[in-house]
Amino acid sequence: MRKILLLHTGGTLGMAPSGEPASLAPGRFLDHLLEQVPELSQLASLSVEVPFNQDSACLEPSDILALAARVRRAGEDFDGFVIIHGTDTMAFTASVLGFLLADLGKPVVITGSQRPLAFVRSDARSNLVNAVDLACRAIPEIGICFGTHWLRGVATDKLSVSQFEAFESPNLPPLAEIGAEIRLHPKAGQFPCRVPGGVGQALDLNIHTVTPHPGMAWFPAPAGAKAVLIQAFGAGNLPMGRDDVGAFLEDCRQRRLPVVVISQCPHGGVDLSAYEMGRKVEALGAMSGGLHTRWAALAKLGLVLGAGGGIPEVRDAFGAAWAGEPMPDGAWPQT
Ligand code: ASP
Repeated sequence: MRKILLLHTGGTLGMAPSGEPASLAPGRFLDHLLEQVPELSQLASLSVEVPFNQDSACLEPSDILALAARVRRAGEDFDGFVIIHGTDTMAFTASVLGFLLADLGKPVVITGSQRPLAFVRSDARSNLVNAVDLACRAIPEIGICFGTHWLRGVATDKLSVSQFEAFESPNLPPLAEIGAEIRLHPKAGQFPCRVPGGVGQALDLNIHTVTPHPGMAWFPAPAGAKAVLIQAFGAGNLPMGRDDVGAFLEDCRQRRLPVVVISQCPHGGVDLSAYEMGRKVEALGAMSGGLHTRWAALAKLGLVLGAGGGIPEVRDAFGAAWAGEPMPDGAWPQT
């Protein structure tokens, strides 16, 4: 039987019906899980740890780095990993772990639920069973198992507050379709790991994010910001007719702040050559974030900044896939 380490970090799945977090004691948590979902013990030999137990909205970079370090240390002793996580920031954690553990060579399956395990009508039971099943399959991917899909972590976003199909990887087909059978994508587990050496000791999230809307006034990035992420319209357009937009980008350029542009649209990505406005954005020093989700873009920026990188390193990071994230020229064919 495969040995799986299950790391419970909090979120809705483990909450009691009253809304309280589940018991912190790891032994108790395993009992609680096996009482509710006894079939888990037919799938794998499970060990459980509770590194922390909180709403995922409260996660700090140090929590995610600690989680990555725990999986890395335990790598030799287990065949796979399941991480129970709140859904609110699951796509961000999945993106950071997707980069940090890209070379682990073992499955890391992140899951959670929209309703607690203790509820009669809950998605927790099936998500857990599917996650443990996937973790036993020796596919070296770091992905989110939720509803009827397993999705590559660095390509994911949470798109529904309450639907049981809460996550998507808008620009990459699922790693697996989960129905009566689990149908794996033929390329699941196959991606080159190109995470630069030196990345991963720190995650510096001093990133100024801007999501423009028509008529918005632009103010300079705050002092202390180390990079800027703009979630632009469509293919990467900004209202370049406004003086304050040009002044914003010029100020970033003078301060040597890397500026990355991604799209407000989940499907498709940025192409700064497509429109005159995009070309002006690029001429003022901003870089295309292509098909990166906001979470993958933040994770990459945070890791580059954490490793002491600046504009050239950010440019390299967004010009190539580190861990199978969709790129304009290399997305998988649709299944
Ligand atoms: N607020 C919860 C969390 O992210 C939501 C959930 O788990 O679904 O921890």
